[in-house]
Amino acid sequence: MRTQTTEGYTHRMERAVAQAVDAGLTGLLVTPGPDLVYFTGHHPTAITERITLLALQAGREPAMIVPILERPDAEPAPGVAALSLADWADGTDPYTATAKLLDPAGRYAISDSAWALHVLALQEALPGTRYVSMTSTLPMLRAVKDADEVERLAAAGAAADAAFEDILGVRFAGRRERDIGADLARLLREHGHSQVDFTVVGSGPNGANPHHEMGDRVVEDGDMVILDFGGIKDGYGSDTTRPVHVGEPTEEERRVHEIVRAAQQAAFEAVRPGITCQDVDRVARRVITEAGYGDYFIHRTGHGIGLTTHEPPYLVEGETRPLVPGMCFSIEPGVYLPGRFGVRIEDIVTVTEDGGRRLNNTSRDLHIVS
Ligand code: ZN
Ligand code: ZN
Ligand code: ZN
Repeated sequence: MRTQTTEGYTHRMERAVAQAVDAGLTGLLVTPGPDLVYFTGHHPTAITERITLLALQAGREPAMIVPILERPDAEPAPGVAALSLADWADGTDPYTATAKLLDPAGRYAISDSAWALHVLALQEALPGTRYVSMTSTLPMLRAVKDADEVERLAAAGAAADAAFEDILGVRFAGRRERDIGADLARLLREHGHSQVDFTVVGSGPNGANPHHEMGDRVVEDGDMVILDFGGIKDGYGSDTTRPVHVGEPTEEERRVHEIVRAAQQAAFEAVRPGITCQDVDRVARRVITEAGYGDYFIHRTGHGIGLTTHEPPYLVEGETRPLVPGMCFSIEPGVYLPGRFGVRIEDIVTVTEDGGRRLNNTSRDLHIVS
């Protein structure tokens, strides 16, 4: 989908080339997926063995090669003069055609989702070229969102929030996790999501496994239930987690919930330009560790979100890059007590000039459901 003006796409391409040059590269090779959507808005209806590739290189015009049958869809909107199109037809060698766009001694960052089929063939066509992973070399490429992207993420967050408010009214006790997950998926679509990426329903002991999605377990009275759900609305992602409890929680369940909420709040309050990703992780971790549950917080504090629901920046020990206004990521500390229950609270947060802004705004109280 096309979300930008010509000027917006051109600006993104120029900025990317500058970043690539700074990293000692000739340029970027972009294949279908979120990277290509980011730079051109072009998203082939089916990603197949036929190569489509956008080459962004210093000192050359942006050029995209497409299968001739897809050329009508790939044609830039009127006025995108800065992008020249080339095509290839079935029965010809697409890699010879692609090679003409490239520097035979070039060193390129290539989309992580590029098919090995294409990378291997390009290496053979141009033995002097070298390829490195786009997200490893240029991890911050799509990490700083512009105002339009932030508002799309905010709208996706508001839709996920509305789905959560609605799910509080459904019956939990006596129903299978997957039935509640189906309700969540339906609600996300009702609130404008075109794609549902995940609906985690972790009840009772299943909530202690952060990777549990949902299953046939029947939710019982007394269960803590982790709901973690999201997808894509108008091109941008949502991702939020709230724990709910069926009936009255125990004192321990309330205490663990309060600790996770305090950790999430502390990490949110730490968000400001200049603080490092790892420091936000440390703030959340310290709260949980000081409360005695440090061994039970077994994942990073957060991940970036944008055209995909998991992307840089990662809020994790060792990630020393600073936060920059426009970055958008989750803050989602959790405590997981094996065989018993788990609690996680997750909001998407964007960095502003003077702090952070939450893009999920449902109450972080422990909600009681029936
Ligand atoms: Zn309980
Ligand atoms: Zn999540
Ligand atoms: Zn998440």
